[in-house]
Amino acid sequence: MIRIFKSPAPEWITRNRERLTNDFLTDQSKSPWRHEHIKSALTRETHSKCAYCESYIAAVGYVNVEHIRPKSRFPRLVLEWTNLVSACSRCNTNKGDYYSSEYPLIDPTSEDPSRHLVFMGAATFPYPGNRRAIDTIEVLQLNRADLFHQREKRINELLALLHSRKHCNTEMESVLDTAIAAHFEPASEYSAALLKFFNDMPGLQPKAPSERIEGTA
Ligand SMILES: [Zn+2]
Repeated sequence: MIRIFKSPAPEWITRNRERLTNDFLTDQSKSPWRHEHIKSALTRETHSKCAYCESYIAAVGYVNVEHIRPKSRFPRLVLEWTNLVSACSRCNTNKGDYYSSEYPLIDPTSEDPSRHLVFMGAATFPYPGNRRAIDTIEVLQLNRADLFHQREKRINELLALLHSRKHCNTEMESVLDTAIAAHFEPASEYSAALLKFFNDMPGLQPKAPSERIEGTA
């Protein structure tokens, strides 16, 4: 999970929110959040990734419009732009209607998840005593087996590049540096795990991380 910076609300949602929210309050069988304008804007915000697990959504399914505060408990927020993110079907289903005012799940749109969650290899852990992080991992199942293996695969790809970088000729250095740095960009799948792995393995680093790498968390 990485920090997500919300874009301005799409003009479509600003224009239609009040009317469609009132319709939803009258008839909660309606699904106004499924509009294509909403899905495409949310997808751009997360670089086509799930806001929670960082999996590329299109590769495995359809974008789910996730309500950070569940619409079943907060129906007036059904089209509130700041309450919406894109999520994969696994995370969206796992979260369901879960909500806790005392220990809310980590919200990547309003806080930096790296202050709560830490990666060790392909597994994610809560910082000691961080109840919100414990609940977030448990509710979303952020260490589910298939997700763990996908992260592990990406870490192994990065590891191979780092080994190549240690033994390459001068001409290949910049090419490999660019390929390595791309793993830590917000658009990269599982960037949080890859960045932590990179920072934990100083012996593999060809040189000090650039400012861009350090700023990606
Ligand atoms: Zn997910």
